[in-house]
Amino acid sequence: MLSKVLSKSQCADCGFCCVFRRQSRWETPLFTEDNRNALTEKFKNAKFRQVGDMYTINIDGEYKTESEDEEAPCFFLDRNKGCILGDDEKPFDCKIWPLRIMLKDEKLVIALTPTCKEINKLPIERMEALVKDGLGRAIYEESKKHPGMIKEYREGFPVLMEFND
Ligand code: SF4
Ligand code: SF4
Repeated sequence: MLSKVLSKSQCADCGFCCVFRRQSRWETPLFTEDNRNALTEKFKNAKFRQVGDMYTINIDGEYKTESEDEEAPCFFLDRNKGCILGDDEKPFDCKIWPLRIMLKDEKLVIALTPTCKEINKLPIERMEALVKDGLGRAIYEESKKHPGMIKEYREGFPVLMEFND
């Protein structure tokens, strides 16, 4: 969904958002139940835990120390090729990252996670235009089906669009 601004090769070379520090586990991707069921069938090593009406990867057992800074990769990350999931398998949450739908002052907003080095090279107006050209509304509609994807707003995340309805 971000192919206009981000290529698969850029992500394969980076992989930053597919590896999670222990303290950043709130950012692990969310999967629908159907998505989770299909992946559990196909990838026997993948573990999930329920979060509200959705599921996320359970990488708790992958950390080897108690350090909050230790990193563990998503089960679907190939360190050389990037994400191994096909378009129909990759969760919506990953398709839109670094965009997030968040609750800010009781309003839903589309915010930009400020840690994607490739997106950070672009003018913010480019991301704003992309979001306002239908992508923001598509994320909003998806969040109506899966409210679990709505996260509390975090300071420092630029807001690209807000909804009043
Ligand atoms: S941080 Fe950005 S460039 Fe890196 S893998 Fe994630 S979306 Fe791609
Ligand atoms: S599902 Fe794919 S894109 Fe999403 S965090 Fe895991 S490896 Fe990265």
